[in-house]
Amino acid sequence: MLISEICMDESGELVRVDAKVSYEDNDRPTFQLFVETDAAFRLLFWPDPNALLLAGLLPAWRAKEQRIYVDGVLCPMLVRDIFAALRVLHYWYPELGPPPSIEAFDFRVNKPSQGSAVSLLSCGVDSLATLRQNKLVLPADHPLSISAAIPVIFAEVPGTGAKQYDSSRLRPARNAASDLGVDLAPLWTNLWWLVDDGYFFDQKWHGALWASLAHLFSKGYSTAYIGASFDGKYLMKAWGSSPLLDPYYSSAHLRIQHHGSGMSRLEKTSLVADWPEGLNNLRVCQRDSSGYTNCGTCEKCIRVMTTLVALDKLATCEAFPVRDMSPDLLSSIRKWDMINNRYVLNWYRELIPSLSACGRNDLVDVIKDFICYFETKEGVD
Ligand SMILES: [Zn+2]
Repeated sequence: MLISEICMDESGELVRVDAKVSYEDNDRPTFQLFVETDAAFRLLFWPDPNALLLAGLLPAWRAKEQRIYVDGVLCPMLVRDIFAALRVLHYWYPELGPPPSIEAFDFRVNKPSQGSAVSLLSCGVDSLATLRQNKLVLPADHPLSISAAIPVIFAEVPGTGAKQYDSSRLRPARNAASDLGVDLAPLWTNLWWLVDDGYFFDQKWHGALWASLAHLFSKGYSTAYIGASFDGKYLMKAWGSSPLLDPYYSSAHLRIQHHGSGMSRLEKTSLVADWPEGLNNLRVCQRDSSGYTNCGTCEKCIRVMTTLVALDKLATCEAFPVRDMSPDLLSSIRKWDMINNRYVLNWYRELIPSLSACGRNDLVDVIKDFICYFETKEGVD
């Protein structure tokens, strides 16, 4: 894979990084990659070649390319450390085969940025908990304090971001960030379509992809946080964003931190639920990937709503269509076979003591019933 013609352009309200991605060992078409943000970030946003390496490396590996060549100057520390992540991925997914070699026009370290921290912000429980905890613990002038949050929107056509800028799509992130005095640095990119495979994205790629996008801000920030999907006891779970992977996507000038493994899902949700702007701007839905709303009926919506019941917070939450969880709605988890892995099952199991304590044995009975069902069901791993 060759990544070339790396450049930055400014037009109107947006600044954009472009790069050409072409394949050497495949007859796949050339891909014109873009990432754009608000022009207000023009002095902090730049075409860091390390970002392009992180964007392309796993897709190149998936495509069985022999090498990835970045026509720019790469950080030798990243190029060395990233093989720690690649070894973990190869252990989890041996079918990937040997990873591509990494080549570049040149290699040179940069000094760490003097700036503060950024965090990726989807407005799910994990990213909101990372943002909230950071602002509770660190004074605003600390270098590890988050001063900008990055919501990412996948868009196929450059320039469409500007039209969406004030749409309801970004409203939850804007509300949450501004409540904590954090800038909003929205990114629009077509990077998804470099692979266009949800399984690959979830299982292998998304930690590297989020790190890649954060590196585009490495001129102005010294640390980027990626919210953990799993708590520490699931450390070894094969997943595209992990404490075994994300820190190795750091360069000498931008540190990537995988944050939140020290909290259970219930603790993270509690952290968000005790923050009104966080609670009301949760966007967790699997069915509405646009981020506009939460449907209230998919597994993820039901899981978060049930957790909020256990915390006595759903009744005051404006983010879901209903203010209580009924046994009938919770039963749809079993009715529609919504669970196919034991991690999710464990998250429901962890809710039982809190639900019992607040007198919701009607929901406990439903959870116990579907735990028995899924534990013996074929295909749940
Ligand atoms: Zn939903």
